[in-house]
Amino acid sequence: FLVYQPKWNVRDDCLAGFEALLRWNHPQFGLVSPGEFIPIAEKTRSIIPLTLWVLEEVSNQSKLWQKRGFAQPISVNFSARMFELEDLAKQVQFILQKVGLDPCLLEIEITETMILEDVERVTAQLEKIRKLGVIISMDDFGSGYSSLNMLKDVAIDVLKIDLNFLRNSAQSERGQKILQATIRMAQSLDLPVIAEGVETREHVDFLLRSGCMFAQGYCYSKPVPIEEYERKVSESQIKSSKAKKQEHL
Ligand code: C2E
Ligand code: CA
Ligand code: CA
Repeated sequence: FLVYQPKWNVRDDCLAGFEALLRWNHPQFGLVSPGEFIPIAEKTRSIIPLTLWVLEEVSNQSKLWQKRGFAQPISVNFSARMFELEDLAKQVQFILQKVGLDPCLLEIEITETMILEDVERVTAQLEKIRKLGVIISMDDFGSGYSSLNMLKDVAIDVLKIDLNFLRNSAQSERGQKILQATIRMAQSLDLPVIAEGVETREHVDFLLRSGCMFAQGYCYSKPVPIEEYERKVSESQIKSSKAKKQEHL
């Protein structure tokens, strides 16, 4: 099943979207973390049908919210295996059309290691998906051997700073400078930056000072089942309809 974690606009202090994250409730072992089952799903290639299922679930959820006037982009994590599908862009397009979802409400998170596996093929497939209007986000930036060259060659829409990069950098002056330089570089490329693993008010203040507009982390919310947001959406709808009634009185 899926859980959803909000992305927050720290500058305007408002919701900016969600990331969908997989969970597995095993009948015998209980809740298994994705760190354990995703590598196995990748090895067995079952990650491909699983991701297609996630894409459809997320698209349906997003469409439902859009109909209720609560349009929010939701992101889906891709694994390198997805790019083994020759017709990947077509499959994404098929799901979008089936659900009737505006492509800009779907975001796909990729990592640079996925691209490194086969730069030309993956870049070409990403370009096709991006042409559909889907948002492409570079996840875990700063976690591995982040190649600046990659940013030059691969068309992406969002840069997502890895949670360990934020955590380790925020602790030292030198680290903070590197992180701030990364944010400035992204800005000069017109790329919005989102920091993940934002846990404390200090992290938020640091991001605000550094010009990073978006954040995701326990400081705002842990990933939670969709029902929690369903409740919040209906509550805010009730509130706004009550406010409208008051206006008319
Ligand atoms: P990720 O894409 O980097 O996801 C962010 C992870 O950081 C999530 O762990 C999330 O719960 C956690 N996180 C968020 N905010 C905070 C925070 O403030 N502090 C800390 N300590 N952690 C935070 P999760 O859900 O366990 O997912 C782990 C990884 O599993 C994900 O990393 C992603 O690589 C993979 N994964 C999860 N769902 C999917 C999926 O649908 N498809 C694929 N291919 N991979 C997935
Ligand atoms: Ca992610
Ligand atoms: Ca990440």
